[in-house]
Amino acid sequence: MTDQTNSKMPPAANPFGGFSISIVDDSATATGGPSAIRGAGDRVDAKVVIIGSGPAGLTAAIYAARANLAPVVLAGSAPGGQLMLTSDVENYPGFVEAIQGPDLMAAMRAQAERFGSRLVDVDIDRVDFSERPFRIWARGTEYRAQAVIIATGASAIWLGLDSETRLRGRGVSACATCDGFFFKDREIAVVGGGDTAFEEANYLTRFATKVHLLHRRDTFRASKIMVDRAQAHPKIEIHPNTAVEEVLGDSKVDGLLLTDTLTGDERRMAVDGVFIAIGHRPNTEAFRDWLDVDSKGYLVVHDETGSKIDGVFIAGDVHDHRYRQAVTAAADGCKAAIDAERWLEAEGITEAATTIAW
Ligand code: NDP
Repeated sequence: MTDQTNSKMPPAANPFGGFSISIVDDSATATGGPSAIRGAGDRVDAKVVIIGSGPAGLTAAIYAARANLAPVVLAGSAPGGQLMLTSDVENYPGFVEAIQGPDLMAAMRAQAERFGSRLVDVDIDRVDFSERPFRIWARGTEYRAQAVIIATGASAIWLGLDSETRLRGRGVSACATCDGFFFKDREIAVVGGGDTAFEEANYLTRFATKVHLLHRRDTFRASKIMVDRAQAHPKIEIHPNTAVEEVLGDSKVDGLLLTDTLTGDERRMAVDGVFIAIGHRPNTEAFRDWLDVDSKGYLVVHDETGSKIDGVFIAGDVHDHRYRQAVTAAADGCKAAIDAERWLEAEGITEAATTIAW
């Protein structure tokens, strides 16, 4: 992105180095970290298991922990969610200056642990929600939970180019709302032909001098009104039949290598940034046998954070394809934890009314 921003790329691996947690059993010497899990061998029992460790999962953990529920968070093998791939975050309330995405997530994680959340950096393999306690398997351990909060998020779909990965956070982005501001008075490109691409292109005209919309075909999935609006916009230029072969630049994006999908002709385009808007994939694979998904593959919520299974709650981008913001995901995590706590109380699983204020 631009000079004043995104000077650092988040580290690719083990972003929470100092926070790694291991599973230990009761017979092991108690040398685990502050939130090490002590269960009976390969089984861990918890009142609440939270799956996912982005803003939704960690906020749910903070709230559940402060309600004395000692939640277990199955944080994933690449914990922290999409903000781990973001550099400057300027729209999360409470930070006058930008905070780096990984720093924000490390702080949320430390806050969740401070109140007794137990985090394990594993991906889940499968779940069984047929009866309570609900069962979740992850790397050989069975987790049993009276209530589950699913906060597995959604992943942006990328083009899959090495150069795109290398320059992510340095001019390559998948979120115009998050990063558009960094492209004031710059020339940029958006890739995609659906509603998201057109919406992002339109949004980005607030900042950029020019927005090139690059689409691999000459017909669009986007609604006609969005296409018409873009075609009429003086700052947007639509390039049909155009594929991105490479993102160019050493330490930041300075251009794109494009091909004409009809003729195969190559050309270069000078831009300071590129927004990939080719869709998101909600992380729902493990739950599809148990819960409803909508036509776009997102989990269906009932009554704010509930699912069709009592005791299974849903928070964040795994159900929300509309807002997809860290702050809305965090709010959702808060709501899910409060709903879970009240549900456990109503079921007689926890003592009535925690003494701790939310
Ligand atoms: P879509 O799946 O609708 O569109 C994805 C676009 O990306 C397609 O044009 C597709 O091309 C292109 N694409 C996919 N993979 C690649 C690739 N590897 N290389 C190049 N191009 C690629 O996703 P959206 O995110 O745009 O929309 C998702 C849903 O959300 C839709 O139902 C949409 O209507 C809705 N939405 C509604 C909005 C609104 O109403 N305001 C705003 C945003 C989204 P191709 O067409 O060739 O397959």
